[in-house]
Amino acid sequence: MTSLPNSLKNISLFLERFPGIGEKTANRLAFFLLNLPKEDLKKFAENVATLKLKTKLCKKCFNFTEDETCEICNDQKRDQSVICVVETVLDLLSFEQGRIYNGVYHVLHGKIDPLNRVGPEDIKIGELIKRIREIGEVREVILATNPDMEGEATAMYIKSKLNELTSSRVNGLKISRLAYGLPMGANLEYADYMTLKKAIEGRNKF
Ligand SMILES: [Zn+2]
Repeated sequence: MTSLPNSLKNISLFLERFPGIGEKTANRLAFFLLNLPKEDLKKFAENVATLKLKTKLCKKCFNFTEDETCEICNDQKRDQSVICVVETVLDLLSFEQGRIYNGVYHVLHGKIDPLNRVGPEDIKIGELIKRIREIGEVREVILATNPDMEGEATAMYIKSKLNELTSSRVNGLKISRLAYGLPMGANLEYADYMTLKKAIEGRNKF
C-alpha cells in the first residue's frame, strides 16, 4: 500500500471496509474508479454524497424508499392483505427478483439475537403488530425469517404476539412459515439435520 499515492490509497482503504473486499480487490476497484470517465465519477460521487439524505424507511413496511411509502406498498395491484415478514431489505429483494410473491412486506431490520444483545424491541416487531392491529384487513402473515436459531426464535416470538392479537378477532389471521428444505440437486446424504427437519415438515402433496 505504501507505493500508492494518497488519493488512491484513501479510496482503496475505504473500499477495504466493504464486506467481502480484501486489499487486492480494493486496489483493483480503486484503479477501476481512476480509469472511469470524469463525468461518471462525478455522478457516482454525487450519488454517494446524497445517499443518506435521500434514502428513508417506508412508513408502512420499512423497505428503503425516497418517499413516505415505498413502491411496493403503493402498488395497488399487490395484495395488501398478505404480509411477508423478512429480516432485511436484501431478503425482500431476493423475493422480488424471483417475482414469486405478490403480497406486501414488513422488514424487521434484524432478528432477535440475545448473544448480541438484540431484543424484540430493537427490531420492527412492535411496528408490525401495530400495523396489523390498525389496518385490520390482513389475511395472512408469512414469517420468512431465516431458518437459523435466531430466525426461528424471531418467528416464534412474532407468532406468539400475533396469537395474542388475533385471539380477540372475529376473522382469524393465517400465520405461515416458509417451507425450507433441500436445494434443487441436493443429496440427502449431505443435508444437515435442520434442513432435513424443515424439508419434511414443509412437505407438499405429491
Ligand atoms: Zn413499503
